[in-house]
Amino acid sequence: MFTNADIPGRCDVVVIGGGPAGSSVAALLAKQGVEVVVLEKVSHPRPQVGESLIPHFWKYADQTGASPLIEREGFVAKAGGIAVWNGKISRIAFSEFGFTRPALHVERDVFDELLLKNAESQGAKVFQQVAVREADLGLDYPQVKYLDRRGGDAIEGSIVCRFVIDASGSSALLAGQFKSKRLVDSRMRFLSLWGHFKNSRYVAADGRSYAATEVGEVKPVTFVTSFEDGWIWHIAMRQYTSVGLVINTDKARAMGNEQREGFFLDTLKTAPYIDKLLDKAEYLPDFFSQRPDYSYYSTRLCGENFYCIGDAASFVDPIYSHGVLNAFYNASMTALAITESLKDPSYRVRHAQLCENRIRQFYGFSRSLALGEFGGDGVDSELVRRFMRQVPPVELELMLAASAMSERSENFLRLAQDAGLSLHPTRAKAHFMEALAL
Ligand SMILES: Cc1cc2nc3c(=O)[nH]c(=O)nc-3n(C[C@H](O)[C@H](O)[C@H](O)COP(=O)(O)OP(=O)(O)OC[C@H]3O[C@@H](n4cnc5c(N)ncnc54)[C@H](O)[C@@H]3O)c2cc1C
Repeated sequence: MFTNADIPGRCDVVVIGGGPAGSSVAALLAKQGVEVVVLEKVSHPRPQVGESLIPHFWKYADQTGASPLIEREGFVAKAGGIAVWNGKISRIAFSEFGFTRPALHVERDVFDELLLKNAESQGAKVFQQVAVREADLGLDYPQVKYLDRRGGDAIEGSIVCRFVIDASGSSALLAGQFKSKRLVDSRMRFLSLWGHFKNSRYVAADGRSYAATEVGEVKPVTFVTSFEDGWIWHIAMRQYTSVGLVINTDKARAMGNEQREGFFLDTLKTAPYIDKLLDKAEYLPDFFSQRPDYSYYSTRLCGENFYCIGDAASFVDPIYSHGVLNAFYNASMTALAITESLKDPSYRVRHAQLCENRIRQFYGFSRSLALGEFGGDGVDSELVRRFMRQVPPVELELMLAASAMSERSENFLRLAQDAGLSLHPTRAKAHFMEALAL
């Protein structure tokens, strides 16, 4: 009979979830000789949305050792972004900012599986189809209880460890236990509907459209357009294109679940530019998905024996492709905090506090870029200003330029001004365009 005897009964760190956050922190800790167990609820490759990666993700992939796997995979390299926001067309090109490595459009099922394999090859013990039910943190050594479904039946088990890392994505397992998850201001609450299309034309940096078959030769941009109720993304990949709508939750609530797919397709048919790109494309109905009420944060992130990272800590509207970057950044800070805490446990509360501040800083940075006004919503403006002064100039320049492409980033610009930062006049910026030739 199948047993879960191969899952260790004890280890240094249990990571809940094997997405980009969990895989990265596991790889970083394992590289330091820390005994890490990753428990992942489903089997990879598993579907996931969020295919646009901005170029500074590479520095984290280098740290975890995942870069060679990503390079070998041959994902689509993208040239930049074009946004049509309330009729105003703007473009940014990553090459103008001096990035030497490409931004990518990645099929997330493939990308996330590579990251998980990397964690395993760095020495983490990875168990898929093992779902964590709860973590008891009130003990000297936390106990993580799970259901192991690898053999078909669900077998209960538990692991004792020194640190628990919640990287369970929007399930936010620990925030659920703590009851610490908060939705942002209701005007800023959105729902996303998305799907996949075959043979969609795509937009390149010259503002022209190209056939799907050319995606390897003429680099696409991530194409974004606003519409009356929200905004739409169009991301071309090797075999298909991901297209999604982001709309206010109240608008979506008025529709039944079954009406949403119809609304999604009808909106795309009438959206300027998107209608042309999808004109001869084939819709793949099996991939229609939705995510309600995202844009949240947790008020409790790190403690003496736990860390919440990636989407398990917070999530903001993905307009600036910060989700995977946030997961990588959180993983990097957490790995450092835990490695140091294992060396000298008397500092573990201090390390947890420092890490929590770092995670909040990045959340505030992304939050101020991606959503309009905020009245608190988990953002400490002073922490964000301090973070802005530390961000490598090329990364800040890119985000400052990108922030000019939508009308969402007034907080970001205000914080940057307060921090004494401004767009360098001789550096690259967003270019405004008269028209697109699609
Ligand atoms: C509509 C939309 C568009 C987006 N677009 C972009 C984009 O273009 N670029 C970008 O960078 N980001 C984007 N994002 C955000 C990005 O997808 C996420 O930020 C990213 O996946 C976060 O990684 P993670 O590891 O924290 O969580 P996840 O990728 O969600 O991984 C969490 C893992 O935990 C597992 N899990 C859950 N519960 C348990 C449990 N109890 N026990 C064990 N395992 C568990 C899940 O199966 C999953 O594999 C988008 C998000 C949305 C919703």
